[in-house]
Amino acid sequence: MSFDIINKLKGPETIIYEGIPAAPGYAIGPAFIYQKEQIEVYPSVSLSTEFEIEALNFAIERSKKELTKVIEFAKEKLNEKFAGIFKAYLMILEDPLLIESIKKNIIENRHSAEYSVEIAFKKHIDQMRLTNDPAMIERSNDIEDIKLRIVRNLRRKRWESKLTRSVIIVAKNLTPADTVLFTRNDVLAYVSEVGGLTSHTAILARALNVPAVVGIKGLVNQIKNDEIIIIDGFSGLIIKNPNEEILNYYNKQIESYDLRKKKYQELRNVVCKTKDNHHIKLLANIDFLDEIPFAIASGAEGVGLFRTENLFFEKGTFPTETEQIEAYLDLASKFYPNVVTIRTFDIGGDKIKFDEAYKEANPFLGWRGIRLLLDLPDVLKTQFRAILISSVYKNIRVMLPMVSSIDEVIKAKEIFNQCKEELKEAKIRFDEHIKFGIMVEVPSIVFCLKEISRYVDFVSVGTNDLTQYLLAVDRGNEKVFKSYQEFHPALIRVLRQIIKELYRTKVEVSICGELASNLYAVPLLIGLGYNNLSVNEYLLPEIKRLILNYKLSDCKKLAVKCLQSTSNTEIEKIISDFNKKYKGENNESL
Ligand code: PEP
Ligand code: MG
Repeated sequence: MSFDIINKLKGPETIIYEGIPAAPGYAIGPAFIYQKEQIEVYPSVSLSTEFEIEALNFAIERSKKELTKVIEFAKEKLNEKFAGIFKAYLMILEDPLLIESIKKNIIENRHSAEYSVEIAFKKHIDQMRLTNDPAMIERSNDIEDIKLRIVRNLRRKRWESKLTRSVIIVAKNLTPADTVLFTRNDVLAYVSEVGGLTSHTAILARALNVPAVVGIKGLVNQIKNDEIIIIDGFSGLIIKNPNEEILNYYNKQIESYDLRKKKYQELRNVVCKTKDNHHIKLLANIDFLDEIPFAIASGAEGVGLFRTENLFFEKGTFPTETEQIEAYLDLASKFYPNVVTIRTFDIGGDKIKFDEAYKEANPFLGWRGIRLLLDLPDVLKTQFRAILISSVYKNIRVMLPMVSSIDEVIKAKEIFNQCKEELKEAKIRFDEHIKFGIMVEVPSIVFCLKEISRYVDFVSVGTNDLTQYLLAVDRGNEKVFKSYQEFHPALIRVLRQIIKELYRTKVEVSICGELASNLYAVPLLIGLGYNNLSVNEYLLPEIKRLILNYKLSDCKKLAVKCLQSTSNTEIEKIISDFNKKYKGENNESL
């Protein structure tokens, strides 16, 4: 909704770009267009095999040294976990098979070292890009960066990432190394054409406390060096040619955010209660284990969603039972005694594919989530076993994705119980009272919840998919993006229906879709009856700050009004008026 405010304030020259808000905060300052020198590698032959191999060894050693420096810097600025991203790159440089294949090419085909590096990396990069999976494509950019590093060192050139003044970095693509190294200078914000919420750049920017907006195609050609721009890392806006009014608005936002950040520290251990004393539990969504320290620092009362498919993604195949146990124990021990919700692999749809060769006409409606897992019982069993074995701290619960019928719940629960029996026989300890739950993200399941309540202890509402399936809108499709209405009256009514269906059952309800992290949606969700919100860790303190100011009784009135509304715009207006009233009364809200 910041867009509406800015749109009203803007002058004739002002241009607003909308991207993905990747790291919170605001910045106003000169743009620095960061364009790496284009390195093109053309087919070329080697004149002396010995010379090429020697040059290759030199370039690899120098690349390793550079990366070791980045690791040291990342450790200093962040911690061991983040340095791990770069250690993975170092491992690629140390991969004997890769190095061998490059050398073989130099010797057998008499290609130059440069061209041999290009051939060896190209195969991997092309394979990753062919998947059409945005996350995979992002990772292929990281691999490309390693290749360019070696080629640059073969040409004995150096890259400069030192800046002489405070700037907003605007780039086509920022690698994780660029992101970390730029913080040796005074970086005000990052903007990158490429990337998503879970890209390494976004994760690092959040960890480094630098605002970031990603995902605006063609931006580098629209902004000039030194041009003053505004970055809004909360709503994903970039503003070019801001007028007086917009500058005043953002200067005030910056001032109040600085004050709020100080308050976040104080809020960390404050229980999240509304003014009229209702506890709202704030949990964190975790995509990668790197995020654990930040989720803990944000004051999260546990993990409402751990997306285990990212373990599959990182490894390129299903992790073993032991690897899974290691990850789940890490989470469970660090959050103990708070709850950790482990969702079984949600593979398929728009996410990572299990079998690249298997093409579907409608992946969103296809082999995805629990459907796929029930067809691969060994995979599901291994995951259930790993979750059970990790449940010794008694703070883990298990959740199934993409459930569309009660049969799926019954079948999965049978397998789960079978795993429990096997572990008992083998005398392996686990939490016998471990909670079993499902995601509510397919509309059909909303109307089966009463019956399902016999089989589950909790449900978590996935509004990302629920909105997509309820409104029949592919969120990733730019052409229909406008129809993806987060405040569509049908969605708000379905959200209320879920609460009603489970009323007077023992089933605990939470919400873990992006809507729970939408600052405007928070009072509405509370008013609809949601007491457990699982949110993006970096927005959690801000959400807590807002809730501390609300009265549940007012939020309920807001919900009643929204439930009677007939359009997305009307609901947005009602929430906006509600916020204005709170702001008027408390001078504190949005
Ligand atoms: C959702 O669909 O809202 C959800 C939380 O799951 P994911 O985003 O992982 O599909
Ligand atoms: Mg989902």
